[in-house]
Amino acid sequence: MSEKRTEISELGEFGLIDQLAKGALIKNPSTLKGIGDDGAVLDAGDQVTVVSTDLLLEGVHFDLAYTPLPHLGFKAVAVNVSDIAAMNAIPTQITVSLALSNRFSVEAVQALYEGIYAACEQYGVDLVGGDTTASRSGLVISVTAMGQAKKEQLSYRSGAKENDILCVTGDLGAALVGLQILEREKQVYLSNPDMKPELEKYTVVTGRQLRPDARMDIIHELRELGVVPSSMIDISDGLASEIFHLCKASGVGATIYEDKLPIDKQTFDTAVELNLDPITCVLNGGEDYELLFTIDQKDFTKLEKHPDVHFIGHITKAEEGKFLVTKSGTAVQIKAQGWKHF
Ligand code: ADP
Ligand code: MG
Repeated sequence: MSEKRTEISELGEFGLIDQLAKGALIKNPSTLKGIGDDGAVLDAGDQVTVVSTDLLLEGVHFDLAYTPLPHLGFKAVAVNVSDIAAMNAIPTQITVSLALSNRFSVEAVQALYEGIYAACEQYGVDLVGGDTTASRSGLVISVTAMGQAKKEQLSYRSGAKENDILCVTGDLGAALVGLQILEREKQVYLSNPDMKPELEKYTVVTGRQLRPDARMDIIHELRELGVVPSSMIDISDGLASEIFHLCKASGVGATIYEDKLPIDKQTFDTAVELNLDPITCVLNGGEDYELLFTIDQKDFTKLEKHPDVHFIGHITKAEEGKFLVTKSGTAVQIKAQGWKHF
């Protein structure tokens, strides 16, 4: 070991992963895709198996002061299902690993599993295993999800081509705005425990933060419409950051239009109330778990009337860069701020 010490924050999460991934030499021909997409792809005969894993830590990813345990269980599954969806695959199994501190009772763990089983029901997946251990530092939940697809149905981050149309599902920014509200109300409560948090007005945004839904509905609809996205990624770190991932993996640029970006009215109004710029929330808010994907122009008419798919821009040559065209017509360079924990 050399004496040199590099802070993780110097590389950032993605820089660190890139660095570590250099050592991952693929030895098995069945490993069709390793590190670098929403899920790994493994050859499984007629079909491929897609695998994705995520880790949720108390104090980093969730705060039990305002997170109901059933919601947390649901979210832990949904965020993994979202990665399977982002490969255009169908989730089939999950494993769940827990590290529990002695603060947790059997009833509390059961409440967590209520949500895990609700998600298993909703997404049609089977819980097939996991691991349970003690924790000295709060609750840790790790979920691994597996899914299936035919090879030709997969959508990688790397498939976007010049002139493809950039699409996003649902609306963006709600989860970040919801988090700000939950944090605000927590502070109000801590300074005066007699005050009842005022949350009724904010159920859309807080609901999105606490219990996000993976867009499997869209994946099934795309199949029915006969559309295979040329590339896809789920929006876990913010639209801008995901555009960077997609463009980097595909070797392309992108132009998006501010007036096409989908934002819910409650998200917009609440952002304004919090003195946040709604467009910044849309671009950099994490944890929306919507899908960002590209389609070939020939598929546009198949999706044109879809109420929950928004056409936000198009793919350009790499050297044209990544730009947001504002409502006034100015092109500004997109910065990938993302939602970084380091
Ligand atoms: P996502 O947000 O879709 O879950 P991430 O940004 O977490 O994706 O990860 C990007 C890629 O890096 C994925 O292929 C993931 O499996 C891989 N990855 C993340 N952390 C590690 C690690 N510590 N070791 C090896 N691969 C990793
Ligand atoms: Mg992902």
